[in-house]
Amino acid sequence: MTASTITEGMPSSRDEAWSRLQTCLQKLPLYHTKRNRVSSGHPYVSRLSSAIRYRLILESEVIQSVLAKYPLAKVDKFVQEVLWRTYWRGWLERRPQVWQDYRRQVRFWRKRPSSETMARGKAILGGKSGVAIMDRFTNELRQTGYLHNHARMWWASFWIHEARLPWALGADFFFRHLLDADPASNTLSWRWVAGLQTPGKTYLARASNILRYCGPEYLTDRSGLDRLQDGHLEPATLSDETNLQPIAWHPPSPLSTLPQEKCGLWLHPDDCLLEQGALSSGKPTSVAAFYCEAVYLRMGLSPLRRQHLRSVLSDGLARASHHFGCEGKLIETDNLEVSMGTWAQSKGLRTVISYAPAVGPVKDGLPNVERSLARQGVQLRLAQRSWDRQLFPLAMKGFFPFWRRAQDILKQHLPALIGDSQQMELGISEDQGHMIFSP
Ligand SMILES: Cc1cc2nc3c(=O)[nH]c(=O)nc-3n(C[C@H](O)[C@H](O)[C@H](O)COP(=O)(O)OP(=O)(O)OC[C@H]3O[C@@H](n4cnc5c(N)ncnc54)[C@H](O)[C@@H]3O)c2cc1C
Repeated sequence: MTASTITEGMPSSRDEAWSRLQTCLQKLPLYHTKRNRVSSGHPYVSRLSSAIRYRLILESEVIQSVLAKYPLAKVDKFVQEVLWRTYWRGWLERRPQVWQDYRRQVRFWRKRPSSETMARGKAILGGKSGVAIMDRFTNELRQTGYLHNHARMWWASFWIHEARLPWALGADFFFRHLLDADPASNTLSWRWVAGLQTPGKTYLARASNILRYCGPEYLTDRSGLDRLQDGHLEPATLSDETNLQPIAWHPPSPLSTLPQEKCGLWLHPDDCLLEQGALSSGKPTSVAAFYCEAVYLRMGLSPLRRQHLRSVLSDGLARASHHFGCEGKLIETDNLEVSMGTWAQSKGLRTVISYAPAVGPVKDGLPNVERSLARQGVQLRLAQRSWDRQLFPLAMKGFFPFWRRAQDILKQHLPALIGDSQQMELGISEDQGHMIFSP
């Protein structure tokens, strides 16, 4: 796998994401019948996940482009998939303890490197599971940072229900290698395969399903596949100690005005599109992103994943710097909050503004960032994208009630969706008890 095939695989700039979207639009009518096929080059799916995850391109922009070309009924499966990410994020926003518990479990196992569990896990992660197709997927993930959705489901199921290994360790392997690693989609999909997300429902991999959906190039070596013979796998019985009770969600209040002086914009991996939406009219003195190699190494992120992170941040900065007409700095640091304080001080900032991060590593670091800035007399202000503000609260129960209500919103605002992305992005706020376009 060469560097150029990897770039072809996952867009790492907004331009690449747009051009990938244009290519996908042509093939979209085939999506609902072909999307489950696992073939080399993954021609039947978009591979836009990393671009959407880092917000090189917005969910609203993707859906707007799709609905400008096709009626919803013809592409609803694709639109539905895009909304799965929003659903997972919204669900986790109100249950951040699920993310914290998962990270705690990962730390627990990492402190036990010589346990029998870790030894068995390491063999699988080293591509020696004894099931050739699983080893092929392991190697594909390591080499490209991508796996097809079906392969992710089979691999996670194999790890949990066949190898009987802790789901959190498998999720951590994905999180360290997937270029689209998303705290919500990854953690909650793993919990779903494990049978924890929808109690009583586990996902069991079956040889017949693998043989049906994999292209012949994936099936040259079938050794070990008998371990997944239909009816062979028994679901692992896992107990969930995580409290799933939702907490109240308080998004930051909408920014009525943007400071026009001594203001800096912070670009972080949860949103690399500062020049679109509520922050687009800002007049920042400086825009900065922070690349924390030492932290990423401690988390065990793969070289490809770190390289991708650097690329998406650099792309976001270049665009922001051009749009706002100010410098854009990629600051390499071992300590985000200290460097944030130093940057704010060196630029004489009074306010640092950013889009609100989702539950995950960036949000985990917010209290320290806020404290460090406060010590310099600098205020941190966050803007919640209207898409999130409007759709996250709908992720209360299962996906399908969410999807029904989300469709109503999409239908109701179709003209805005198709005609004016900026207006859609500014979006609809429920703050005043009725739907309005927020300023
Ligand atoms: C165990 C497991 C772990 C996963 N971990 C991640 C992860 O860390 N990050 C991540 O982005 N996705 C994750 N997914 C979801 C899904 O596999 C990927 O989003 C999808 O395979 C990305 O490929 P694509 O862009 O070609 O998808 P397409 O089929 O082209 O779908 C279009 C878009 O819809 C969204 N999407 C599609 N399927 C899902 C889904 N099941 N959940 C959420 N969003 C979806 C993505 O943004 C994707 O780009 C995981 C799924 C499983 C089963």
